[in-house]
This record gives sequence, structure tokens and C-alpha cells, in this order.
Amino acid sequence: MITAKTGEALAAAVGAAKAAGKKVGFVPTMGALHEGHLSLIAEAKKHADFIVVSIFVNPLQFGAGEDFEKYPRTIDADSALLQSAAADLLFLPTVNDVYQGNTEITQQAGHIGELFEGASRPGHFDGMLTVVARLFELVQPDIAVFGAKDAQQVFLVRQMAAKQFAKLRIIEAPTLREPSGLALSSRNRYLSQHEHAVATQLSAALRVGHATATSPSAALESARTVMHKVPEAKLDYIALVDANSFEAIQDGFKGRALMLIAAVVGTTRLIDNIEIVF
Ligand code: AMP
Repeated sequence: MITAKTGEALAAAVGAAKAAGKKVGFVPTMGALHEGHLSLIAEAKKHADFIVVSIFVNPLQFGAGEDFEKYPRTIDADSALLQSAAADLLFLPTVNDVYQGNTEITQQAGHIGELFEGASRPGHFDGMLTVVARLFELVQPDIAVFGAKDAQQVFLVRQMAAKQFAKLRIIEAPTLREPSGLALSSRNRYLSQHEHAVATQLSAALRVGHATATSPSAALESARTVMHKVPEAKLDYIALVDANSFEAIQDGFKGRALMLIAAVVGTTRLIDNIEIVF
């Protein structure tokens, strides 16, 4: 595996791969890698033959008082995991490599970016889209893979890519979970044993919502009942949205929906979602 620490080193390696007729697949991450990230690499390998993984903790997508400083940085372990997953290139840029001294927000997530995660984390999605667009420009991938766990993120990335990177194909990979149901996340390592047990109730609520989805309101009510039994999880929202528009749905809706959940357990903000077809 090549490790490229600058845009120039990245461009040289990607250029050589493309000149050899290879299709370039891209998996952007913030590191502290786990099996969920590796599953995105496995998915990328189905569609491309030179796989670039970036590790970059993007300051622009963290708000004041969020965990930018303490976000886990585990580069040696990450690099070993990427070797074992047979990634071809690890892109490990500095803030300056990515932004070239210009850390202005260049992307607007719009109305959908202000809902749900965006309502609790103002500016988060503008910052996320800004770095993703910048990374797309640097990596020049043919395909890029994002996890379904971050449903609003992948929705907004698709929207942005359709307008600005028309040749790039965005692929969504399913959420990897622990046997307990808890979605794998780099932030799970913040959880104490007790908090971990509390955190499993987010996915339990989604499963109950899915199992009782005779209507949107019935699904939401039963999912909320699960969360009311664990007040230690400070529920931010449970919502049902149309998977195609990310707008909230009402009873009578027919089609593919996503049930979204966000809660803070201890000091750790966790999100998850499940698909429900009405
Ligand atoms: P992050 O490093 O948390 O920014 O995530 C990088 C990518 O991995 C994003 O596309 C996430 O949606 C994806 N991801 C995170 N957790 C999981 C998971 N449990 N299963 C699948 N993909 C995931």
C-alpha cells in the first residue's frame, strides 16, 4: 500500500493507476477505522481496481464544543487495517494540503442540511460537503463509497455530486453492526460498558419501529416507547423521512422511508437509521 501525504504524491499515484487502465475507487474516512470502514473498501473493490482511502479529521465539519480535539487518531492501527484490507493508497493529508490556506466553506447543503443532524450541528453539512468536494477534486475517483449509517450525509453527497461531479458514481454500503445491534462507529470507543448497553437501545428502537410499521405514526410511536424506557439516552430525534427527498412523511405515505434516530449517551452523540417500506 502506498501512503501519500501530499496532493502531489496522491496525484502521481492516481495518475499512474489511471494510465494503467485502472478504475479508481474512493473511501473517505476520519480514521479510527473499524469493520464498517473495511466493508466500504470491500464494496469499492467490487466496482474499481485501485482503492484510495483518505483519513482526514476535517475541522470545518465540527462545531464549537464538539469533539474535534479528542476525536480518536489511531494512524498506526488504521494503516495496518488498511494493509490487511488490501487498500492500494492511503491519503493522509494535512489541513493545508486539503485547503491550501483557504478554509472557507465552499458548499451549501441547503434546506435538507438544516434538518435533523444539521439542526443539532449547525454548519456541519456545509463543512462536510466542502471537504468531500475538495477530496473528490484531489482524488479524481470514478466511484466513491459512503456508509448508509450516515443517511443524511450520503443523501447530500449524492445531491452535490450529481450537480458538480456528473461522471462520479456514488455507492451506498449497508451499515455494519455489532451482534448487539449497535451500529459500528469510531465514537463507540468513547462509551463506558454501561453506556454501551444503553446505546444498544437506539438500534432496538429502530427494529421495533420496523416491526410495527403498519403506518408511519405507529412505527414512530413504538420506537419512541423503547427510547422512553432508557432516559439515560438523551433522545434528540426519531423521525421518518422519504428516502428520495429526505422530507418528513405522514400517514398515507407509500414508498421507501428511513427511520432516523439520534441520541446522546453520556457525552457521546450517536446516530442510526433503518429502511422501512410502507
Ligand atoms: P467516518 O470515518 O465516521 O467519517 O466514516 C467514514 C465512512 O464510513 C462514512 O461513509 C460512514 O458512513 C461509513 N461508516 C461509518 N460507520 C459505518 C458502519 N457501521 N457501517 C458502514 N459504514 C460505516
